[in-house]
Amino acid sequence: MARSAILFAFLIFSATTPAQAVDDPALEAAFGRLSTPAPGPTRTVGRNTNGCILGAEALPLSGPGYRVVHPNQNRYWGHPDLIATIRGLGEAAAAQGLGLMLVADLGQPRGGPITGHGSHEVGLDADIRLNPWTEGELPAVEIADPTEVYYVDGARSTAVNSKWGAAQAALVRSAAERPEVERIFAHPAIKKAFCEGATGDRTWLGKVRAWYGHRAHFHIRLGCPVGSPDCVAQAPVPEGDGCGAELDWWFTDEPYAPGDPNAPKPEPPPLPAACTALLPR
Ligand SMILES: [Zn+2]
Repeated sequence: MARSAILFAFLIFSATTPAQAVDDPALEAAFGRLSTPAPGPTRTVGRNTNGCILGAEALPLSGPGYRVVHPNQNRYWGHPDLIATIRGLGEAAAAQGLGLMLVADLGQPRGGPITGHGSHEVGLDADIRLNPWTEGELPAVEIADPTEVYYVDGARSTAVNSKWGAAQAALVRSAAERPEVERIFAHPAIKKAFCEGATGDRTWLGKVRAWYGHRAHFHIRLGCPVGSPDCVAQAPVPEGDGCGAELDWWFTDEPYAPGDPNAPKPEPPPLPAACTALLPR
């Protein structure tokens, strides 16, 4: 999720939705400068929105069915469970003939607050582009600075555009059907497309959560891994497919109502001590 969206959401819905983390830019910069993982056994600490990871693993820049984009940003680190999930998704994309899956941000080598995102802090979140590459070899320029392909025209559009198709649906569904994936964030219009079109067993659909942005990529989130006692789990997704009234709310004015400009800015929650300990002194 983009940080601006989180801020926006916090300001307007603090009464109706759980508080979202708002990160300190200095901490984001400090974690952004760390180029290597913290040594030792893998351990995620804290929440997706306020935490870090020790012993993170790098996703290889390319593998069967996938390619990491903008690798110079060094945001391809995560828990080995997440690395395994992405590799599995790449293999599934290849097996389904969807094209080359483009993997954007996971997290920084030590996780932590990350510029441009509200979460992606504990090595359990990843952004996947909705446009698998299908035109032969991926050009270097598209690796370094990939073109954003939007499947929903505007922030408040209520339907996907004509680019949305079977490949996008298959990519998202393939991720949602994996048992280790707890949540997926997608634009409300994308969720709506699934609510209207998904056939067969729909139990996976409850994991696809409508959220701001997410018009060119979707976001996958894993639950707390085994062996990370300091990982703070999030609430499970509600029962059901999440279609109906819950989704309809996104097509009202309420999510987009301007907030009170005089409201106090929420304070970032303190980062767990085990995370600040990863910064140079
Ligand atoms: Zn994301």
